[in-house]
Amino acid sequence: MSGERFDAVVVGAGPAGAAAAYTMASQGLSVVMLERGEFPGAKNMFGGVLYRHALEALIGEAWKESGLPVERVVTEQRYWLLGPESVVSIGHRHARFMDPPNAWTAFRARFDPWLAGKAKAAGALPVYQTTAIDLLRDPATGRVTGVLVDRDEGELYADVVVIADGVNSLLREKLGIPRWKPHQVSLAVKEVLALPREKIEDRFNLEGNEGVTIEFLGATSRGLTGLGFLYTNKETLSLGIGVMVDDLLRRPIAPYELLESVKQHPMLHKLLHGAETVEYSAHMIPEGAWHAVPQLAGDGWVLCGDAAGLVNFVNREGSNLAMLSGQMAGEVIVEARRAGDLSAQRLMAYDRRVRRSVIGQDLRKIRRLPAMLHRWGGERLFDHLVGAINEAAYRYFLVDGTPKRQAEAEALRHVVRAAGGWRGTMRLAWDALRGVRG
Ligand SMILES: Cc1cc2nc3c(=O)[nH]c(=O)nc-3n(C[C@H](O)[C@H](O)[C@H](O)COP(=O)(O)OP(=O)(O)OC[C@H]3O[C@@H](n4cnc5c(N)ncnc54)[C@H](O)[C@@H]3O)c2cc1C
Repeated sequence: MSGERFDAVVVGAGPAGAAAAYTMASQGLSVVMLERGEFPGAKNMFGGVLYRHALEALIGEAWKESGLPVERVVTEQRYWLLGPESVVSIGHRHARFMDPPNAWTAFRARFDPWLAGKAKAAGALPVYQTTAIDLLRDPATGRVTGVLVDRDEGELYADVVVIADGVNSLLREKLGIPRWKPHQVSLAVKEVLALPREKIEDRFNLEGNEGVTIEFLGATSRGLTGLGFLYTNKETLSLGIGVMVDDLLRRPIAPYELLESVKQHPMLHKLLHGAETVEYSAHMIPEGAWHAVPQLAGDGWVLCGDAAGLVNFVNREGSNLAMLSGQMAGEVIVEARRAGDLSAQRLMAYDRRVRRSVIGQDLRKIRRLPAMLHRWGGERLFDHLVGAINEAAYRYFLVDGTPKRQAEAEALRHVVRAAGGWRGTMRLAWDALRGVRG
């Protein structure tokens, strides 16, 4: 392998890396795609919602071929605010989400090899079980000229290195970009639970290929800032919860304990009982949004996907932003190559493209949210406030002879008290609005 030269070396065969490799290889560039896992997706996990849009932008209608490894089409999305033994819920179901599918539930161990296969079929050279351990640089200019891999004489040279090695990116550190701070990442734990298909369809009110997602917050995160999810697959359920790492450092709770208490919540238990755990995994998610996105290109390199912090955690969009950014990186490199100019300035077109695109717009929109959540704290927001909303709902719906005006005032008092009085309520409402509206 020593001394081999390519137009591009892609590090990581997740959605970002595979998308970049596919884009460049389809345009005739020589591309090697490195993956440290035994196969793409072997070391990956996610909640499991995959959106069609980014996939279609990348490979066109080829997703329609029969082999697309997905589970169910998401036709209903529910949001749950959980009190200790209650729920306030909102949701939306629409048959139009079915055809064409807006999103599917999926498993990375099946999807990643499929997408990497597309890159391979387009001409990229996949090299698995190989870890990039350092960047090679031109000693005179400092330009990145390739990567060093964990094989004998493992030097790979390229005009551009596409760094798509995920949230724990080693190569991003080698560029001198600081590691994530604890308030910029969450730790997510997930279980896959087996349940017969008929039970899933019965409990979630599904027919055929339909699927449901439930995002929940409140009592289940035990006062930490966090969000849980429960997604339906064909014959399994994906259950998980992610909590901010800075919160976990302040109030250490073992991740598996957190997941255990999620499973015991009466509202979730109803849907889960009798299901058997078949898989357990944990992974980080970069959640710093816009302010945590570093420079995305430089002399001989570009940064994509989770390695760049391109995750919209509000809308659980990580994989599709990874694919979109990988594709944009690939396109910019192809254009730069055609123009015969692979300078840092030229590659910075990728940085500008990402920031102007839907990725940049969405991350900018939620840029204030991480600080807002930090300021108000998990205990107040997720424990007290969500608990109070449940109490308010209980009071509102209880018919016990209390006049409605009085019952409504009591319900409102629960929420206002939890938000710190009227002034606190106004401030929280304003902060929350700015947090989600940008
Ligand atoms: C619990 C959880 C739930 C999630 N739910 C969703 C969801 O429902 N929908 C959604 O869109 N997103 C979701 N995400 C986010 C999503 O998983 C990521 O945003 C996405 O995987 C990022 O893709 P990527 O290609 O940038 O990185 P990754 O998928 O992490 O891929 C990086 C690849 O690089 C490889 N690698 C790492 N280092 C090296 C190295 N030095 N050399 C060679 N190879 C290397 C890794 O093995 C890996 O295959 C979730 C994440 C988690 C943890």
